[in-house]
Amino acid sequence: MRTTDIRYIVLHCSATRSTQDYSPEALEHDHRGRGFRGIGYHYYVRRSGEVIPCRPLDQIGAHVRGYNACSWGVCYEGGLDSAGRPADTRTPKQRASLLRLLRQLKGYAPQAHILGHRDLSPDRNGDGRITSEEWLKSCPCLEAETEYRTLNDL
Ligand SMILES: [Zn+2]
Repeated sequence: MRTTDIRYIVLHCSATRSTQDYSPEALEHDHRGRGFRGIGYHYYVRRSGEVIPCRPLDQIGAHVRGYNACSWGVCYEGGLDSAGRPADTRTPKQRASLLRLLRQLKGYAPQAHILGHRDLSPDRNGDGRITSEEWLKSCPCLEAETEYRTLNDL
């Protein structure tokens, strides 16, 4: 993939509980179990704020059906509350790391639009908007386009 091919920077969550430790090794194991060649995202951001590079940016990811060839995938650890319900569980350090990382990626590909995985669900009723009843899943459990509007407006 060339940087000029990138139309979207897609935010994901690992869909693990805020109280659960989900290591990059566990993530890699799970993704290999699904037939991916290693972690499908380009970056993984731990609850600690640590940013783990997973795939080179010129390598196609495996994270969003139909859009892998024109997107980068960023995943944060979490997305479910302690009871297993979808929730924005980002820690302050994760928020800071994500903002820094997304700003950096946006710098590489200024044309790219930051959004959440669920925002690329099919528009089943064809009204031009992806509404909550059309979401295939709730990933990344937050309003990414609203959250990162200032970066998208750059
Ligand atoms: Zn996702």
